[in-house]
Amino acid sequence: MRIKRLKLSGFKSFVEPAELRIEPGLTGVVGPNGCGKSNLLEAIRWVMGEGSAKSLRGAGMEDVIFAGTATRPSRDFAEVSLLAERAAGEGVAESGIPADGEIEVTRRIERGAGSAYRVNGRDVRAKDVALFFADAATGAHSPALVSQGKISAVIAAKPTERRQMLEEAAGIAGLHVRRKDAEQK
Ligand code: ATP
Ligand code: MG
Repeated sequence: MRIKRLKLSGFKSFVEPAELRIEPGLTGVVGPNGCGKSNLLEAIRWVMGEGSAKSLRGAGMEDVIFAGTATRPSRDFAEVSLLAERAAGEGVAESGIPADGEIEVTRRIERGAGSAYRVNGRDVRAKDVALFFADAATGAHSPALVSQGKISAVIAAKPTERRQMLEEAAGIAGLHVRRKDAEQK
């Protein structure tokens, strides 16, 4: 799976709709302190299903919505879309998510109404989005997404925690979720 584009609107400091194309190869984001570099990485984790407001440096999930400044009113919603592409044979069609081609995952939060997810414009469950990213060996808690200060946490991790990280990196986290699901049924 390849991530091709990120679109943000009303997410944290990205009050105006913004689009970031991610070309093959290495992408760097540079800018002065406080310009929103970490917010971009948090937007990727958020659209992938991050459920912890604290790990997005907020007290509640609505804190991801643009809170307003002295000159700009706050917004009522935040929306992030991530455009991914799967090659033929890379995935299986499941819960309305196509097996291959372009797959746009959107998460939107409205004040007082919580989060909703769409894939290619159709409503899906948070769980479908989590599985989709887990199968691609990524997701909100993927070891591929290393936020500021996390390197020391990896070094200090217990062996079982480290195994979890390795399993996630190996792309078998989705299988564990499905097994747990099957055991409950
Ligand atoms: P550094 O180089 O210091 O790590 P950075 O580029 O990673 O900086 P971020 O932490 O992404 O910067 O951005 C912080 C900015 O985002 C702050 O100015 C903060 O006020 C703003 N911000 C965060 N949440 C919101 C929100 N809900 N509404 C408006 N602005 C917000
Ligand atoms: Mg930062």
